Amino acid sequence: MPMVSHLKHVVEGQLKAGQLRCLIPGCGGVLAPWWYGVERPLVLPGGVTERVRPRRAICGSCGTTRVLLPDTMLRRRQYGCEVIGAALVAAARGMPWTQVAAGIGVPFETVRSWLRRFSRRAELVRAWLLGLLDVLVDDPWLPAGQAGPMAGALNVLAALHAQMPVRWPVVASLSPWQLAARLSGGGLLSPAWPPGAINASSPVT
Ligand SMILES: [Zn+2]
Repeated sequence: MPMVSHLKHVVEGQLKAGQLRCLIPGCGGVLAPWWYGVERPLVLPGGVTERVRPRRAICGSCGTTRVLLPDTMLRRRQYGCEVIGAALVAAARGMPWTQVAAGIGVPFETVRSWLRRFSRRAELVRAWLLGLLDVLVDDPWLPAGQAGPMAGALNVLAALHAQMPVRWPVVASLSPWQLAARLSGGGLLSPAWPPGAINASSPVT
């Protein structure tokens, strides 16, 4: 898929250019390529399944290795972030989850688990995104209030996506959901929230 290979290329390019930093608190070492993580399936919009082999990176200072997911993936999710994002958008607009699942061709229980996880933390995600908007955008404009917490969170994500590339051009090629995946370290729907601190000097790692 061109989309995935392009985005893998973004992470790969940043890694090889020494632009990615270690996330171990207080380390700050530069990450370098270090083999690959386990290959896994990724379901893209339209139901196409691709095999993805995420890159593994090693810190030049502390030697810690970590897997760098491409921006199309969320941790522990077999479906790509665009598929999951489409479901969240439809649900935020008030579509019943059974219809959402049928519409995107994903099993009901899977969609229900996404919606449950996201709706429970929607207020926290919204607050997290508002904080990022403040840190990563100069003089940000804020989106108007929305009826529900999910719609509110999605609105802030759209505002961040629209305004961030001025200061961080590398994110201009990302869709809103890829941006959310990247900023959350793939943890948008992970069991634990918050997903971890964002280093404001390099928000695109
Ligand atoms: Zn390190």
